Amino acid sequence: MEDHILIRYGELSLKKTNRKQFVTKVTNHIKRSLSEYKNLEFESRGMRFYVILNNTPSNKVIEKLEKIPGVYSFSVVSRTASNLDDICKLAEEIVRKEIGTNATFKVETNRADKTFPMVSLDISKAVSRHLFINIPGLKADVHKPDFVLDIDVRNEGTFIYTKTYYGMGGLPAGCLGKTVLMVSGGIDSIVAGYLSIKKGMTVDAIHFESYPYTSDLALQKVVDLLEQISPYAEYLNINLFVVPFTNIQEAIYKHCRDDYGITIMRRMMYRIAERIAKARGALAIINGENIGQVASQTLESISVIENVVDIPVIRPLAILDKKDIMDISNQIGTYEISIRPYEDCCTVFVPKHPVIKPLISIAEKEESKFEYAPLLEEAIANTKRLVLHKDKHYDAIKKEFVSEDDLI
Ligand code: ATP
Ligand code: MG
Repeated sequence: MEDHILIRYGELSLKKTNRKQFVTKVTNHIKRSLSEYKNLEFESRGMRFYVILNNTPSNKVIEKLEKIPGVYSFSVVSRTASNLDDICKLAEEIVRKEIGTNATFKVETNRADKTFPMVSLDISKAVSRHLFINIPGLKADVHKPDFVLDIDVRNEGTFIYTKTYYGMGGLPAGCLGKTVLMVSGGIDSIVAGYLSIKKGMTVDAIHFESYPYTSDLALQKVVDLLEQISPYAEYLNINLFVVPFTNIQEAIYKHCRDDYGITIMRRMMYRIAERIAKARGALAIINGENIGQVASQTLESISVIENVVDIPVIRPLAILDKKDIMDISNQIGTYEISIRPYEDCCTVFVPKHPVIKPLISIAEKEESKFEYAPLLEEAIANTKRLVLHKDKHYDAIKKEFVSEDDLI
């Protein structure tokens, strides 16, 4: 009984040419994330993948499978030989155990094994008849049954189940290449990161820190947010680049028009993000911008800010409602972390009246009032890389994470 988990890939089936490679990526991800369960065995059959439980509790496996991009759905299934007697026997056993007696039901059969001597409809009818005869109180209801008993007749055996769980969907982690994620401690950017991972991108995170205006607690928030999404990522760990941003912000504050402060600050962030992206071989910058949310996210602002880089900038949240973003953040467990009250570097130097429709010419003129190039170089040279592992919690306050590694 219930000895296998049958896993189905979703969007994968659309991408014919890369299919094999994608399947390998998902199955490797599945195996890696389940590696602590030593009894498991795995069986790959074309577009399906089986985890053979060998007494491992299925709920533990399900928890892991829910976090693997490219897994569309899965079912805990029982397996038997592909002949009608065995199928009926197993169907009865499952209904008695999982459904009980007084219920309405429907049998659905998928006959992938075309050598099986009966067509799907006849198999469904024969099994239904067997259940009626042997389990009193059962009733058929083809429209709104209490449960559906799925029978999947395949060459390798017949699989019977009553419940399908939905996975994350999306594409296998890392199959579409590398990006950098601009991540703050807010609600949005981490959701943008999650959606990007879900869609097959690897992310290296970049956080701009304004120490001592922002505290270690603000950085801890970013670390905690990234750890929360690391189980979804390809290697189960995420690089975090922490860029010291204070000198740049102070220079902007000192030299530039107040209302252009944020525009220019964001142009500086983009410039540094592009440098790190190119050094890391990343093909795009991801951020949590959401059109119209604040002054720096009007279309005019976005175009003046983006003007300084020569790399695609992807904004997964661009047109979502705040409510939808919050729903996702609740679902992935980042919301509670994001609303911790620590200041972010953006909130420290906020002008009273930020420009809503900035002009490139004015932004450039303001930037020419100070030598920003050496400040960018200095920030990049002093950037620290932290490697966040899923199994190891980093304590930003104790600075346990500071790595001696080469920066970029
Ligand atoms: P969030 O909730 O993600 O902080 P936000 O609505 O507060 O977003 P902004 O502060 O204007 O918006 O930032 C827009 C985007 O710029 C963020 O979603 C994030 O991608 C990036 N960003 C903002 N602050 C930082 C930071 N300190 N370090 C890295 N990226 C940042
Ligand atoms: Mg923010």
